[in-house]
Amino acid sequence: MLTKRFKGSFDTTAASETEEVGFQLGLTLKEGDIVLLEGVLGAGKTTLIKGIAKAFGLQESIITSPTFVLMHMYTDTLVHFDLYRLQALKEFQKAGLHEYLGPPYITLIEWPSLIRPLLGASVIEVKLTYKGEDKREIHIA
Ligand code: ADP
Ligand code: MG
Repeated sequence: MLTKRFKGSFDTTAASETEEVGFQLGLTLKEGDIVLLEGVLGAGKTTLIKGIAKAFGLQESIITSPTFVLMHMYTDTLVHFDLYRLQALKEFQKAGLHEYLGPPYITLIEWPSLIRPLLGASVIEVKLTYKGEDKREIHIA
């Protein structure tokens, strides 16, 4: 199947612009897609996810980092992980969370490094770099 991918580098100067990048990315997502969001605390990972969620018709106000529960499910298929507090890969697997990687789900993952071994090469990588109070550089590949 022919698929057009959203990728490139973006310089944003406000949270709303990072959301807009997320919205554009969200419009291209389909089942089975896994989006990895990398960047320091405050880089804008959750902000970008708010934009993705908007592309699915969701209110951005329901989107928060699931720091204490590891996972939020916004629709039957849109899943958001924040693995900042995950201690080990086997903890993720024991909880059965690997079930949410791959079709029919669309999975958005903050702090994905520990579960990287479970993921194939065909993931969408979003790197956010802090460039100043309201400035961020976003790279999507
Ligand atoms: P993370 O999930 O990476 O820890 P958040 O998205 O929760 O980061 O927080 C980013 C913070 O930075 C928010 O308070 C947001 O309003 C602010 N911010 C300021 N400028 C930007 C920008 N250009 N892009 C994203 N967030 C920005
Ligand atoms: Mg976050």
